[in-house]
Amino acid sequence: MNRLLIFGFALFMSYNQVCGQVKLQTAAERSDFKSTSNYSDVMTFISELEKTSRYIRTETIATSSEGMDVPLLIIGKPLPKSPEQLINDKRIVVYIQANIHAGEVEGKEAALMFARDLLSEKNPELLQHVVLLICPLFNPDGNEKISPLSRPYQTGPVNGVGVRYNGQYLDLNRDGMKAESPEVRGVITRVFNTWDPSVFMDCHTTNGSYHVEPVTFTWMVNPNGSNDLIYFMRNRMIPEMSATLLNKYKIENCYYGEFNNMLQPENGWFYDASDPRYMSNYYGLRNRLGILNENYVYADFKTRVFGCYYLIRSLLDYASANKSEIKKMLQDVDAKTVNRGLNPGLADSFGIEFKVRPLPEKVTIKTYEADLVTDANGRRSIKRSDRQKTVTIPYYIDYYASRNVKFPFAYLITVKDQEVLELLKRHGIRVEELALPLKIPVEKFEISELKGSARLNQGHYTNTIKGRFLKDTIDFTAGTIVIRTAQPLANLASYLLEPQTNDGLMTWNFFDRYLVPQWGMGYYPYPVYKVIERINIKTIPLM
Ligand SMILES: [Zn+2]
Repeated sequence: MNRLLIFGFALFMSYNQVCGQVKLQTAAERSDFKSTSNYSDVMTFISELEKTSRYIRTETIATSSEGMDVPLLIIGKPLPKSPEQLINDKRIVVYIQANIHAGEVEGKEAALMFARDLLSEKNPELLQHVVLLICPLFNPDGNEKISPLSRPYQTGPVNGVGVRYNGQYLDLNRDGMKAESPEVRGVITRVFNTWDPSVFMDCHTTNGSYHVEPVTFTWMVNPNGSNDLIYFMRNRMIPEMSATLLNKYKIENCYYGEFNNMLQPENGWFYDASDPRYMSNYYGLRNRLGILNENYVYADFKTRVFGCYYLIRSLLDYASANKSEIKKMLQDVDAKTVNRGLNPGLADSFGIEFKVRPLPEKVTIKTYEADLVTDANGRRSIKRSDRQKTVTIPYYIDYYASRNVKFPFAYLITVKDQEVLELLKRHGIRVEELALPLKIPVEKFEISELKGSARLNQGHYTNTIKGRFLKDTIDFTAGTIVIRTAQPLANLASYLLEPQTNDGLMTWNFFDRYLVPQWGMGYYPYPVYKVIERINIKTIPLM
């Protein structure tokens, strides 16, 4: 069928008659949760929804590498024409993103249903407090490859789901820092930099551990983000959302984690993704609130859709009730970040290695006992039993820096690499250049060992580096790139620029050309220098 015919058919099928009233339905609803929406289902649903209400419009986040527009729904009452209209607005901006992994599809259905139901309410209380941004389909390339062979262990939808990767074979939830995909570039520039949502939730499906709760979720964890925000999330916001979801909406839920051994759940509940390549952690580095939602892979599709639906509602309930406090807190954290960069103290540091410890309080997970079984070929595997078992165990999610470097006043970059500059600017980082030549004391990084990984990771032989910082006084030419840390995105800038972080420009090969001389042994100095103490530098913005 050609696209137009598919579009027409989808439009016809998007409605059903309910008591004489026409109700817009998702592909999941009209198939009794046997199918998930394909691209044209989603786009048709959105355009029909736009006809029902003047409080919604659509923007485009990006065009995928296979040529599909990634939609962004903007819902507000009144509907803001641009972010500038929200400058003195009391409402809080919340962004829900779904289908980043296109095999994990319930967020897509739940977000569309939620938008429809919210707009069909006569006088939705939520819209007095929230401007809601929704991307129901972040990875259309992956979504268009719907097949029953994708994620076969997942409990539905029986007619199949898409694949994890986008059209470039990239995992978009590893692309937060290097931003190589149009989708991630688009969400950074057209959602995060443009609308600056206070809260962002990324919707996924879990991969394995057995438990009863259909919904799990957790907060951003990278300790180079603001600890004030991490503590707020883990001590107040996430527990309260969890209670609302259970008590008000009757959805069992727990914080996201995995058992390290299903045979010994007592060992603990582990969250092992602290890097900012993951979108929710990336958002934390930006001094904003990031939530990772993972719905339980073995819960049936309909249960997962409704679980996610009510999680969205619980998030918006919380954001509505606490909008002023959250907005004020984010402003304060930005100001604190800028102030630190104006005059970094001896105690200001930046983590380059992390360890995890459990939270002071244990968590309760309703799990099942598992058995070790041996098949006819002698292969052993772990199988879930029907014997339910509730465990109260340590939650390993409190990441802390086990190795630090000094947090500087500024970074000076001595190579004018357009890709590097574009990436920094794309993230929203303020980039300047020296107006005049300058001779100043700095710390330079002397490399002693540089290794590429043996196996490609997201198309990269990622680097690990060893070396040490040395004090030196260096002549910098006019035009040397300057990144001051007195800016709200300083934590993100440091993560990208420090040589020893696990998710920066060094890791992802951006500086490879500048490190190894053509002849001889050894290395060039790493091309980013640290100005440790406050100093007067004359700079001009880099356009
Ligand atoms: Zn996922």
